[in-house]
Amino acid sequence: MQSRIERIVIIGTGGTIAGAAASATDNVGYKAGQLSVDSLVAAVPALRAESLEAEQLAQLDSKDMDVSTWARLARRVQAHLDRPEVRGIVITHGTDTLEETAYLLQRVLSPQKPVVLTAAMRPATALQADGPQNLLDAVAVAKSEGACGVVAVVAGQVLHGLELRKTHTYRLDAFEPGPDSGLLAVVEEGAVRRFRDWPQGVALGASTLPQDASDWPWVEVLASHAGAQARALEAWHQAGVQGVVLACTGNGTVHQALNGPVQALRQAGVPVWRTTRCAQGRIVGAPEEKGAALTPWAARIELTLELLQRR
Ligand code: ASP
Repeated sequence: MQSRIERIVIIGTGGTIAGAAASATDNVGYKAGQLSVDSLVAAVPALRAESLEAEQLAQLDSKDMDVSTWARLARRVQAHLDRPEVRGIVITHGTDTLEETAYLLQRVLSPQKPVVLTAAMRPATALQADGPQNLLDAVAVAKSEGACGVVAVVAGQVLHGLELRKTHTYRLDAFEPGPDSGLLAVVEEGAVRRFRDWPQGVALGASTLPQDASDWPWVEVLASHAGAQARALEAWHQAGVQGVVLACTGNGTVHQALNGPVQALRQAGVPVWRTTRCAQGRIVGAPEEKGAALTPWAARIELTLELLQRR
């Protein structure tokens, strides 16, 4: 018999894991976010023995993730975490922006219980769908002794919520840990073999995230590249952008055409952070810069949170 503390809440947000195609052999021409989270759970007979409850929070293709959904998700996750009988949370999510949601939730909630995002690269209708195994593995991680913090579980790999990145467009193991770190754990036949500490940190609180989308600051990412021109940044400045993250070349270098508008933004009090667009490494020699070790997408969230906290 299971104790009440074993309860796992599964929150559905859509994604390919809930996607459907017209043919079982079609792994790319499908529509994400079609099947209910209840049906995803029902498709895994091994989960019947677990104490689970499922909740449909959204039904999105995660390429379309929006700030109102983030604000709702953070609050719902916190509400479930506050229930003593809940051991952990699993969130089914699309792969496209999974790393952004994971980063946001870890920074905002830094939960003492596990919050496990999972996803799939193939729709639920595929001949060899990866979603059911990923969901089963995610529940195993959520139940794992001592687990806490936000992590992702895909293709048997457990990745740190602040570090993971989607690095492949098609392969089932589409995620990797950050360049200077490794996997947090692996799941093998339901057993979690851990290599690193669970994510820890200071929670900013779900209430940091405004429920009204218009209350979120406007923060953009701009890549520096050959042939870069000043006018995109100038246009954003004129339109009222409140923060910019530069995806710089190499070790944080910026095309000279962008120097003028970057300076103008900074002089006007609009923060401009540097990150690198390189897949490996960080900006070396800039330890004080907050974006130096982050992906452009993580830095965009970090800067957004900083602007929200300044209010
Ligand atoms: N576009 C899908 C999504 O992010 C891709 C996926 O889930 O794999 O929702």
